[in-house]
Amino acid sequence: MKFRIIPVTPFQQNCTLIWCEQTLEAAVIDPGGDIERIQAVIEEEGVKLTQVLLTHGHLDHVGGTAPLAREAGVPILGPHKEDAFWIDGLDQQSAMFGFGKVEGFTPDRWLDEGDTLTVGKEQLEVLFCPGHTPGHLVFFHRNSQLAQVGDVLFQGSIGRTDFPRGDHATLIRSIREKLFPLGDEVRFIPGHGPMSTFGEERRTNPFVADHRG
Ligand SMILES: [Zn+2]
Ligand SMILES: [Zn+2]
Repeated sequence: MKFRIIPVTPFQQNCTLIWCEQTLEAAVIDPGGDIERIQAVIEEEGVKLTQVLLTHGHLDHVGGTAPLAREAGVPILGPHKEDAFWIDGLDQQSAMFGFGKVEGFTPDRWLDEGDTLTVGKEQLEVLFCPGHTPGHLVFFHRNSQLAQVGDVLFQGSIGRTDFPRGDHATLIRSIREKLFPLGDEVRFIPGHGPMSTFGEERRTNPFVADHRG
């Protein structure tokens, strides 16, 4: 599996294009906006978009979903249905974050812990990791030990929990009980900022390092 990170929106959200090298079938994870830029990368890599995947319902992660999925004629999968209130409230989110008008949508399928997604011949495992939002998902590609974690975990930090239905203790539990057991070597793409590994965060992250108990 190959991937390319495409930072989008004024929040520099790490929209990610992933694809199967054998079939060139691709998925876009978290198309927050700037869909011309995303479409240009899809064209440049010569891959075929087959689905849009969403980690959670925040605007900077989902704002470009409706037009991107419609123009490519592909389904929208995720997030977990507990994030439906965020997606239903896209207009309010747009006002709150100072974005322009965004097009609403309903996912074709909500996802849950234990679901498996197929991109060409590659498989992604779905993990339910609430805390930043109540319906946040993480996508894990076991073969390449790569996780797309959205706003759960960042290099040196963790997701905000001061939004409606955010919960700090739940977030810490998601990171320690769902993500870290995947292994220290696992590399992750966060929703914002540089990549890191779970091992590095276990050593140095001021919020979730092992020595923080
Ligand atoms: Zn978020
Ligand atoms: Zn974000």
